Amino acid sequence: MIIQLKNTITQAEAAQLASEIQAFHIFYEDANYLITGSGVKEVPTLLSGKTEKDWVFANDLQLASSKFLPNKRTVQFGNVLIGGNTKNTVIIGGPCSVESEEQIRTSSTFISGLGLKVLRGGCYKPRTSPYSFQGLGLEGLKLLAKMREEFGLTVITEVRDATHIEEVIEYSDVIQVGAKAMYDQGILRACAKTQKPVLIKRGFGTTLQEFVQAAEFVLSGGNPNVILCERGIRTFETGTRFTLDLCGVAWLKEHTNLPIILDPSHAMGYAYGVADLARACVAMGIDGLLVETHPDPSVAKSDASQQLNHQDFENLISSLRPVATSVGYNIV
Ligand code: PEP
Ligand code: MN
Repeated sequence: MIIQLKNTITQAEAAQLASEIQAFHIFYEDANYLITGSGVKEVPTLLSGKTEKDWVFANDLQLASSKFLPNKRTVQFGNVLIGGNTKNTVIIGGPCSVESEEQIRTSSTFISGLGLKVLRGGCYKPRTSPYSFQGLGLEGLKLLAKMREEFGLTVITEVRDATHIEEVIEYSDVIQVGAKAMYDQGILRACAKTQKPVLIKRGFGTTLQEFVQAAEFVLSGGNPNVILCERGIRTFETGTRFTLDLCGVAWLKEHTNLPIILDPSHAMGYAYGVADLARACVAMGIDGLLVETHPDPSVAKSDASQQLNHQDFENLISSLRPVATSVGYNIV
């Protein structure tokens, strides 16, 4: 249950009331809210006369629920606004991993040359094998920061585990919590303590409810800047790497108030299908699209088979603009 307190109640009083009824206390948009467990269906008597409004939920989808905020949240994604009434579809482009200064500078020159604003690149890679390239770590983060300085790009990079979360928060503009990392409570709780936007990717075996509950950890901890990212789930099919769950995206659009970004690259796993999927994603009216692109995919140190070469990426972006326009969105 979410309870909005009267605006005559101070923050200190709200915090005191929260501890008395064992609720979370958050302060959003000039109002104090208390959030109880979903089992609570009535305003506790201790709060009588002190409340403005309340919302009762059937489950733990609360702050992220469209029943709480019917309008989609607006999130400042670096230099770009998404969600709310913006109708922006932000493109996140760049390689799977930051591999060298030369590679990430070539990527940055390319992305900014297309008029795009967001550069991605992993520095702590969550690899399935310990023998694969694990990422450049802090050195990679410093290269991304350098690219932000030189090109004015917004930078997004992923956190693999809680050991380096503070570094990722410091160096990135947007924190990406990967499909394998999204259950890590250390990461989620640390992300709740910053105000930087957090893009949470759906685990490949994660239900929609569990996915949104990961977002609730960040929201209830005090960070309202959360974005969901569908990147493919595991089904019985093995012909493609994963299956992009567009039904799930429709569900998230209906039941949550969070901006939604789609990642066809990791879902497909092969470059040949990425452009078709990307157009299908944009046709749904979405807040962003993440597509991996590498100066020479054949030598990429991770996800080589799915990254688009620069020419194919450029062609894709041109083809996306009319698709976005047809559903009332702008590619940014
Ligand atoms: C990535 O974005 O490169 C990545 C590892 O994604 P995911 O967490 O979705 O596998
Ligand atoms: Mn990747």
